[in-house]
Amino acid sequence: MNIEEVASYCKRRGIIFPTSEIYGQVPGFYDYGPVGVELSRNLKNYWWKTFVQDRDDIIGIDGSIITNPLVWKASGHVDSFVDPLTECKKCKKRFRADHIVEEKTGKQTDGLKNEQLSELIINEKIKCPDCKGDLGAVKSFNQMFCTNVGPVEGNIAYLRPETAQSIFADYKSVMDSARVKPPFGIAQIGKAFRNEISPRNFIFRKREFEQMEIEFFTKADKKNDCLDYDKISNLRLKILSGEKQEKGLSDAEEMSIKTAFEKKIFSNKWHAYWTATFYQWFLDLGIDANKLRIRQHMKSELSFYSAGTVDIEYEFPMGFKEVQGIADRTTYDLTQHQNLSKQNLEYFDEETKTKEILYVATEPSLGVERLLLLVLFNGLKEEPERLVLKIHPKIAPYKIAVFPLIKKDLEPKAREVYNLMKEEFSSFYDEAGSIGKRYRRQDEIGTPYCLTVDYDTLKDESVTLRMRDSMKQERIKISELIPKIKEAIKKGLV
Ligand code: ATP
Repeated sequence: MNIEEVASYCKRRGIIFPTSEIYGQVPGFYDYGPVGVELSRNLKNYWWKTFVQDRDDIIGIDGSIITNPLVWKASGHVDSFVDPLTECKKCKKRFRADHIVEEKTGKQTDGLKNEQLSELIINEKIKCPDCKGDLGAVKSFNQMFCTNVGPVEGNIAYLRPETAQSIFADYKSVMDSARVKPPFGIAQIGKAFRNEISPRNFIFRKREFEQMEIEFFTKADKKNDCLDYDKISNLRLKILSGEKQEKGLSDAEEMSIKTAFEKKIFSNKWHAYWTATFYQWFLDLGIDANKLRIRQHMKSELSFYSAGTVDIEYEFPMGFKEVQGIADRTTYDLTQHQNLSKQNLEYFDEETKTKEILYVATEPSLGVERLLLLVLFNGLKEEPERLVLKIHPKIAPYKIAVFPLIKKDLEPKAREVYNLMKEEFSSFYDEAGSIGKRYRRQDEIGTPYCLTVDYDTLKDESVTLRMRDSMKQERIKISELIPKIKEAIKKGLV
């Protein structure tokens, strides 16, 4: 399936559709439908459970989208959160300069300056993709959305372009209220807004999206003291180093985390640990390891705050693309906020009686929409008789669908089974069409277990349980359903 086919599947199945479509689409904005909202919540809940609730070293916050605008001055976004823009001199349409250069020439543009992109546009004779007019000199375009707060004109504020800064801006309040000691992390899931020049590839590049981020703090001299490093150091994965890309090469090499650390792919041991931990998390979700790779940022493309960044990339139909960025953000952000706010953001170590700005050894930043797209591409399988979404049961929008074989006589019993299931699992009731059609509808949205109530159910209190992937059917007592399905979800049996 290509990206357009996935977009049309998502619309048909109530997963995602363009926002306010009756008035015409606003590029870069999408809404979740009844199935999509369940799927995205399940992904977020699974992330939160794994990285916040199940860990002792991470606490959560939920910051507001609008903050004091000085937050974005301190962070550098007001001055430097820009993308390269070129405008057609004829039709006046605006484009992401690096993207059209990449498309026309196949050349890597990461880290190129505006002047270099302008030169490439001239030398490679790149024209407006729409009207073939001449393209203008490349300029910087700030991606932050601006608004006014209250009735006063000019009282401007920005919609946050990343969730990370809420964590830094709230850092003092968190430290004053929670008793945490480094190493520890502060996590957040929330909306972010970027006025992307050309939103594209369905939900891959949106203007309003969600991020799941952790800022993981250590003392500066302890960023290599990662107790769990040995647990992950033998994990093998495909890595494309910055050095290779600088030589124009693009083939990833398989190596262990330990070797990659020795080759300086990671900035510190926590950076290696978090990359491996998230990579493993993707595998546990059932993502195909052959489609994943780690790409180290080249020096020329590193963000101004980063001492080292790697991306976890997935091979979409449009090529390997970033799903998650994992950066060593140093002490940059807290230092900036301390300087501009004039508040002391140092950590006081009771044991050594010393004070210091803590070091962000790692920031893993994952986009909800990109994760969802990855889950769809990884899970959607076109089989001869059906389209089936093979996703892990723990993230499936509905765990169970209940059908009466014949509506007329069996509805009351089927509803009784449905009500029982609903108490434990997110469930769906369907009595329309043939059983075969009902199975197909559930297969398409990834429901792992279907229960059919038939005439025998009335006699022996048993139903037919049908598994999504194997399509195996078995007879099972209603009284045994809940523990059996709980076990199957836990073990990923489908
Ligand atoms: P890209 O290079 O693709 O624009 P980025 O490097 O700017 O991404 P980050 O600033 O590292 O992205 O943001 C962290 C994560 O947030 C990304 O890995 C991605 O999952 C998500 N993300 C960023 N921008 C968007 C967007 N416009 N739409 C959807 N998700 C996004």
